[in-house]
Amino acid sequence: MAKIDKHICIIGAGTAGIMLANKLANKFEVTVIDPAKDHYYQPGFLFMPFGRYKAEQLRKSTTKLVNKRANLIAEKVANIDFQNKKLATDSGTDISFDVLVVATGTRTDPSMTEGLLGDGWQKNVFDFYNPDGAEKLHDALKDFKQGTLAIQIMDMPIKCPVAPLEFTFLADDYFKKRGIRENITIKYITPLSGAFTKPVASAKFGHMLEERKIELVSDFYTEKVVETENKVVCFDGREVIYDLLVTVPVNVGSDLMRKTDIVNDLGFVEVNHGSLQSAKYPFVFAVGDAADLPTSKAGSVAHFEVDTLAENIPRFLEGKELEESFDGHSNCFVEMGGGKALLLDFNYQTQPYEGTFPFPGVGPMKLLQPSRVNHWGKLAFRFIYWWMLLPGRKIPFINAQMSLKGKKIIES
Ligand SMILES: Cc1cc2nc3c(=O)[nH]c(=O)nc-3n(C[C@H](O)[C@H](O)[C@H](O)COP(=O)(O)OP(=O)(O)OC[C@H]3O[C@@H](n4cnc5c(N)ncnc54)[C@H](O)[C@@H]3O)c2cc1C
Repeated sequence: MAKIDKHICIIGAGTAGIMLANKLANKFEVTVIDPAKDHYYQPGFLFMPFGRYKAEQLRKSTTKLVNKRANLIAEKVANIDFQNKKLATDSGTDISFDVLVVATGTRTDPSMTEGLLGDGWQKNVFDFYNPDGAEKLHDALKDFKQGTLAIQIMDMPIKCPVAPLEFTFLADDYFKKRGIRENITIKYITPLSGAFTKPVASAKFGHMLEERKIELVSDFYTEKVVETENKVVCFDGREVIYDLLVTVPVNVGSDLMRKTDIVNDLGFVEVNHGSLQSAKYPFVFAVGDAADLPTSKAGSVAHFEVDTLAENIPRFLEGKELEESFDGHSNCFVEMGGGKALLLDFNYQTQPYEGTFPFPGVGPMKLLQPSRVNHWGKLAFRFIYWWMLLPGRKIPFINAQMSLKGKKIIES
């Protein structure tokens, strides 16, 4: 099939960039640019500290994941010239485009918190949002037999906002299985006023923490970490002492985007929440974690956003009005330990409610309630990711727009 003579450049071959390139490559000239030779299934990082996966089981070569009809350039984008619709890679190559998609994700930046990268870093202070940190944390957890484990979110937003909670539930389960839970105090430290961003789920998770004798330390805006004294200090003067600290450092947008005039303070691209188009430069779109949107930064969200862009980019190139079809839909499994998980389904407007998924009244998965089926769903998702999601195939019965059918609406 002949391609339409328009050039779409995607910066970033992560979850969102690969999915979008694979959806558009048969129709348009598509170039994806990313220096990373390997792509990781990031949800697997959660399980690495507990020994379920090794990094190599979560990794595939980026070249094998991108449709051969797209050009993949293994370089970093160093500069974007919006006026002349071109970008430059770090080797100095200029590339012109008709449409630019920013899919540069988010990264953790431990250097943004005073004291975090001190002597304790990767000795008794760890970050599991990357394979190296997750692997090192595995060794530390094996050796941890007593004391206080503190799990801490430095600031919001973070990618996969449930991941630190899941880590907490899995740690409780891990210590119970080793028969040492009684010797360990677990504290969950968050800048939020509850266990999660949305009130209904927050109340549920708060209760689950309490049942497991995990202390919730809320409204905790970390000023600094004093590693010589093993403590985290809040701006309001409160302190939490730890023996082992598992932190999610501040999440920021890519350095490239932080140099531009289309981002917020943390470097996330400001776009229309429904169409994902930049208000400043209509030929620019953002997708995935790189976008500044009032929903979770998650792979499932990136998946639903890609459906909107796969419609809107062709519409833009044909001069048609864009559809504001992205509704903030987020769908995520939350591991609870003990071989169970619960499932959250929500969007910009709604809370995660109880009910069944994907079939109203039938399930087989339960929303907002722990079940074994949900846990198996979470584990199976790795295969769906590689074989359906990234190649851009439709996942049966999963719709980009959220439905309230089969959900029990609870007023918060
Ligand atoms: C521990 C953990 C657990 C998670 N669990 C879940 C889960 O259960 N469910 C879920 O839905 N999501 C989960 N996520 C989140 C999910 O993995 C991310 O939201 C998703 O991968 C985001 O995709 P992205 O394409 O926006 O960013 P990424 O996949 O991070 O890709 C961004 C890419 O941009 C590239 N890039 C950056 N700057 C440049 C530049 N200047 N030039 C070229 N390329 C550049 C990077 O190299 C990178 O490859 C989890 C994440 C973590 C860390």
